[in-house]
Amino acid sequence: MRMQAPILELAGVAHSYGDVTPLADVTLTLGPGELLVITGGSGSGKSTLLGIMGLMEKPDSGRYLLRGKPVGELSDGALARLRNRHFGFVFQQYALIPGLNVWQNVARPLGYAGLNRREQKRRAVELLSELGLAHLAGRRPAQLSGGEQKRVAIARALVNDPAIVLADEPTASLDDINAEAVIRLLKAQAKRLGAALIVVTHDQRVKNHISNHLTIGKA
Ligand code: ADP
Ligand code: MG
Repeated sequence: MRMQAPILELAGVAHSYGDVTPLADVTLTLGPGELLVITGGSGSGKSTLLGIMGLMEKPDSGRYLLRGKPVGELSDGALARLRNRHFGFVFQQYALIPGLNVWQNVARPLGYAGLNRREQKRRAVELLSELGLAHLAGRRPAQLSGGEQKRVAIARALVNDPAIVLADEPTASLDDINAEAVIRLLKAQAKRLGAALIVVTHDQRVKNHISNHLTIGKA
């Protein structure tokens, strides 16, 4: 029995690009602290689905409820505020800003929360410390290894205490040790925050750690 109200619910979600229909009928529900792996071959619509869940793209049809509210009824401004305050994104290509150092990158999402610079730095460094990355706080992204950059990207995704964490192929191009570290980090932090964690991946190393799987497209 589900004890808490769902954070997000998708029902019959479909999306096309011209005559390509990567998403035909997606239904899923996730509550606080619940984990889901979305899997499927290349081009099966994984990133499209993540874009829809992350409020970056509107589905052609179907229902998407966030804490029971239909997102289709929200204005662009309301969607942007929700995205900034309640979502954490881990992008496939890290998307760290080269001209900012590590703590400044991690603090970026806090700008929208109206915190002053000193408070932003305090929060960013505190989280970096929890993740064992404090020694990197003053470095530029280019001075980090791929695994370190990925962990910094995860810190940035978590700094605003998101209710929903969306990670697109977070272990791609990482060796086994770094992949393991990244997935443990994501799981532990989702648990700490009570966040719904959605990992889009075809990486068996991730699937071994999360039992709830949804396969989309042609299996
Ligand atoms: P995956 O992440 O599973 O590899 P995507 O969601 O990126 O798949 O893409 C699913 C399908 O939709 C692919 O055939 C891709 O070429 C197509 N597609 C994705 N984004 C666009 C777009 N913006 N315009 C047109 N076609 C797109
Ligand atoms: Mg993709």
